[in-house]
Amino acid sequence: MARLVLFDIDGTILSTQGVGRRALARAVSEAFEIAIACDHMDLSGKTDPQICREMLTDSGYSNEVNAEKLAKAFDIYLPILKTEIELCKEFALLKGIHELIDALTKTGDAYLALLTGNIEPGARIKLEPFSLNQSFAIGAYGSDSANRMELPAIASKRATKHFERAFEPKEIVVIGDSTRDVTCAKGFGAKALAVSTGKTSVAELQAEDPDFLFSSLEDTDSVVEAIFAK
Ligand SMILES: [Mg+2]
Repeated sequence: MARLVLFDIDGTILSTQGVGRRALARAVSEAFEIAIACDHMDLSGKTDPQICREMLTDSGYSNEVNAEKLAKAFDIYLPILKTEIELCKEFALLKGIHELIDALTKTGDAYLALLTGNIEPGARIKLEPFSLNQSFAIGAYGSDSANRMELPAIASKRATKHFERAFEPKEIVVIGDSTRDVTCAKGFGAKALAVSTGKTSVAELQAEDPDFLFSSLEDTDSVVEAIFAK
C-alpha cells in the first residue's frame, strides 16, 4: 500500500514569520513601481503568482499584469527572500518534520514530494537552510500554475515519471495548513491531512472536512498511521 505524500511548505514544514510576504511585496513594488501594503491580506494556501496579482489589485494597480513584469518581480524576489531568511531568527522548521520524513522514508512505501504555492526556486531557497531539498526531489509549484487546484495533477504526473510508478488519487495524501490545501486534495480525489500550525484555525480547517486534522505533525506515529489509513 504505497503513498505519495505531498507536503505544503509555509505553515506546514516551516514557520516563515512572513519572510515570503515581505520579500514578495518588496519585489512586486519594485517591478511594478507601486507601493504595496499587504499586511492585512490572507495569503494562506495561495500561489506566488496569485499573491502578486492580488497585491497589485489591492494596491490599486490598474495596468495589465503581464508575464514579463511578473517574471521581473520574481527575479527581484529570490535574492531578497534569501537575505530575509538569513536575517530572520524566527524562520524555523516546525516540530516533528525531520522525524516524520525519517519515519515515512523507513516505511519504504512512502514517496515524498512538494505541493506548494511557492515558485520552485523560492521553495528551494526556503528548504535549503534545513537540508530538506534532498528529501523532496520533485513537486508541483506556484511556478507551474497560479491555480492551486491544478497542482495535485501536476505533482502526480511528475511523481509517476520520477518514481517510475503510477499513483491512484486515493494513494495520494496532501499535507497542508490552509483550507486551500484541503480543497485541492479533495478536488483531485486525494486524501487531505490538515495541520493547524499555520494561520488557519482548527475550525476553518474543519469546515472543509479534511480526512485528518492534526494540531501539529509532532506525533509521528499518529501522522504516519493516518497517511497509511485506508
Ligand atoms: Mg501553507
